[in-house]
Amino acid sequence: MKRREVVILDLDGTLIDERGTVDRAFLAAGQVVHERAGIEADRFARTARVTAQRLWWKATWIDPLSDAFGISAWDGLSEDFEKAVPALDRLRAWLPAFRQASWRLALEKIGAADLGLAETISASYTQHRHQDVSLLPGAADLVKVLEHEQRRLVVLTNGPGDGQRRKLESSGLLEHMRDLVISTEAGFAKPDPRAVSRAVDCVGGRREEAVMIGDTYDRDVLGALACKVPAIWITDQPPRDRPEHPLVTPVGSTEAVLPALHALERSLG
Ligand SMILES: [Mg+2]
Repeated sequence: MKRREVVILDLDGTLIDERGTVDRAFLAAGQVVHERAGIEADRFARTARVTAQRLWWKATWIDPLSDAFGISAWDGLSEDFEKAVPALDRLRAWLPAFRQASWRLALEKIGAADLGLAETISASYTQHRHQDVSLLPGAADLVKVLEHEQRRLVVLTNGPGDGQRRKLESSGLLEHMRDLVISTEAGFAKPDPRAVSRAVDCVGGRREEAVMIGDTYDRDVLGALACKVPAIWITDQPPRDRPEHPLVTPVGSTEAVLPALHALERSLG
């Protein structure tokens, strides 16, 4: 296989520990409730997660948007979706009401008397989401080595433009990227073949010299395969349920990506 000059990188779960950040943000919100109302932080965090997700999916018009752009209730609680395409105007207008209803309902459910706390909790969650961004083990080295090898790096991510950009900036990764393609700004999301195509085009590359690295099979891997681009799939579970594919290399973690890429390039000549 030819050297992969263009490396398309997913962000959440590939470079950034998104799951950990969300967990800690809900717990920080719970801590506020604990301090003000004496309710166990962990219990509030669990309730708030369920409540936010239910309200998000209750709005039936959200479903096709979540699917088309790869966005979540967790993003809706903290991001404003700045610079999003007009298809997301309705969502943007709805977000303040969604946030208020989510936090108030969660407070109601755990029996907190002061529903006015909702605003403080919302601010705490948002602050944590914005400030607490951590890289996954091996992510910083992966990016540095790939750049040192003079490959063209491009982030291809589904999510809100403001949130994804902020993560890249505060994690120090942005300066290593030639470009980034974000679903809510592009108007389409992985696995739509336009996503990988756009990522390749915007760094002046060709599909035959690209590789996709990501952790979500249905988004990252299928998006790459739709363009006949090989994928390195980060997965912590043995991929028993997926048939082997000559263009898909499963690895156990971000740390294992680089050796897998080198081996891939060697093995396929
Ligand atoms: Mg991901």
